[in-house]
Amino acid sequence: MVCGFDALFIPWVLQHRLIITELFPLLSDTHKTAQKVLITKANVINLKTFLSAVRLAHQGNDTGVLPLSPLVPAKNSDVEKPKTKMIITSRRDYPLTKSFPFSLEHLQTSYCKLARVDSRVLCLRKLRKLDLSHNHIKQLPATLGDLVCLQELDLHDNHLEAFSGALCSSGLQKSLQLLDLSQNQIQALPLEFCQLRGLVQLRLDDNALLRLPCRIGQLSRLRFLSAARNKLPFLPCDFRKLSLENLDLFGNPFEQPNPLVPNIQLKIPLTLLECAARATVNHRIPYGCHLLPSHLCKDLEVAKTCRCGSACLSSFIQITVTMNLHHVAHTVVLVDNMGGTEAPVLCYFCSLDCYSQFLDRHLQSNGMISHLILVITE
Ligand SMILES: [Zn+2]
Repeated sequence: MVCGFDALFIPWVLQHRLIITELFPLLSDTHKTAQKVLITKANVINLKTFLSAVRLAHQGNDTGVLPLSPLVPAKNSDVEKPKTKMIITSRRDYPLTKSFPFSLEHLQTSYCKLARVDSRVLCLRKLRKLDLSHNHIKQLPATLGDLVCLQELDLHDNHLEAFSGALCSSGLQKSLQLLDLSQNQIQALPLEFCQLRGLVQLRLDDNALLRLPCRIGQLSRLRFLSAARNKLPFLPCDFRKLSLENLDLFGNPFEQPNPLVPNIQLKIPLTLLECAARATVNHRIPYGCHLLPSHLCKDLEVAKTCRCGSACLSSFIQITVTMNLHHVAHTVVLVDNMGGTEAPVLCYFCSLDCYSQFLDRHLQSNGMISHLILVITE
């Protein structure tokens, strides 16, 4: 085995741990590759004998004179499997000097009073499940997005005030399926949040959220959503597009919808910018930062949609209407202690015409309901 060595390096021998790096020619002298042989938990005497044999062989001497023990096949129990799971639930057990095994796929470090994400954890590229719950983390590093295999990220009960747009545009975009941000201090999620298209489960309970992302309907794989005990006055218009199994919005200060009190932002005549923006979205004209200023691109991404299907940018009429949450979820946790499953959702109109048409229908249906009540009571 050692006769084929072209060169031999022994970087370190540490207790029972030995790493040998061998270099051998592949195709020619200019194409060389390195291979590491890792020996752990070796018997000290056998290890010394082995090293002597390696040195003699490297010097071209005869190894036959050495008392080498016959090779015995290793039992299953002798072979150490790479560690894939590590659970740490107290600060006392948190490794301060040792590194984490690079083979880890599931790491939990809870109740460790961590103020930030350990840089050693950010090197664990095989991680699929990372649980950093019950710590004191205030900010997430952008390099967390380099963990491209990460499917589950649990950050509940920390001190987070934001979840950055950079993370939403990172490698997590495709991989992340479960995200738990509950029990933090987040007031708003970035516009890019809806780029996390792989999300199936999202927990946002017990934060200070004033809005849900306006494009939340783009999370087409989302099945479990909870945002209980936040500060949501209403839901975004896009919320209607969700198709959930379970929804929990308990304990939010939802306002009472009143379609008769509109928020009128309509500017007549429409500005040239508004006309151009509406045409771009309505006719699906391709655009990008190479064609338009980036702030315009961002504005176009959050263009509102009127009930007639037409887009509007900054000239619109806004109202809130009541939506039964069963329209978007199979199982709905009651939104209050009164047994309600309804919540206000934003609704936009591109023109006075569209609003008045809606109003006619709304009054008509209410009139019909009062008429029906009269008929029934008579
Ligand atoms: Zn319209």
